[in-house]
Amino acid sequence: MINKVVFLDRDGVINHDPDDYTYLLEETTILPGIINFAKQVKAKGYLIIVITNQGGIDKGRYTHEHVAAVNDFIEKEFAKEGVKIEEFFYCPHHNAIQACLCRKPDSLLIEKALHRYKADPSKSYFIGDKWRDTECGEKVGVKGIKIDVNVISDNLIKLID
Ligand SMILES: [Mg+2]
Ligand SMILES: [Zn+2]
Repeated sequence: MINKVVFLDRDGVINHDPDDYTYLLEETTILPGIINFAKQVKAKGYLIIVITNQGGIDKGRYTHEHVAAVNDFIEKEFAKEGVKIEEFFYCPHHNAIQACLCRKPDSLLIEKALHRYKADPSKSYFIGDKWRDTECGEKVGVKGIKIDVNVISDNLIKLID
């Protein structure tokens, strides 16, 4: 267990969440401040991994391809600024349709990520705009930081050791 990770929720933390599903590339905008925050996080030696619920797939609102296109766009926008996102993990299920273990606040995806990246949960953080994000982290010993939806404060970095 050598790595430390800052886990980010996607919608409302990286890109603007219009309070409905974000799946069209043309409606995807990166929030001001998030890439700068990510740079600071990398400078402190953290890996960055995204964990997102995409239950709209189960509901038939959009497809895996839509999710991949938005994820690719985000990955490239960060890469342009020299910030690597290690991986995107997403749950395509919705609890109204079927039960699963990967939809936040359940912890299967973060457990996978911690294992895959040999990360120490006690040195890692989960930043999300919903309680289910921070709860997901806290279930496995990762510190949760709850932010307001679509708001990346300049002070956020001060919460990361
Ligand atoms: Mg969110
Ligand atoms: Zn799931």
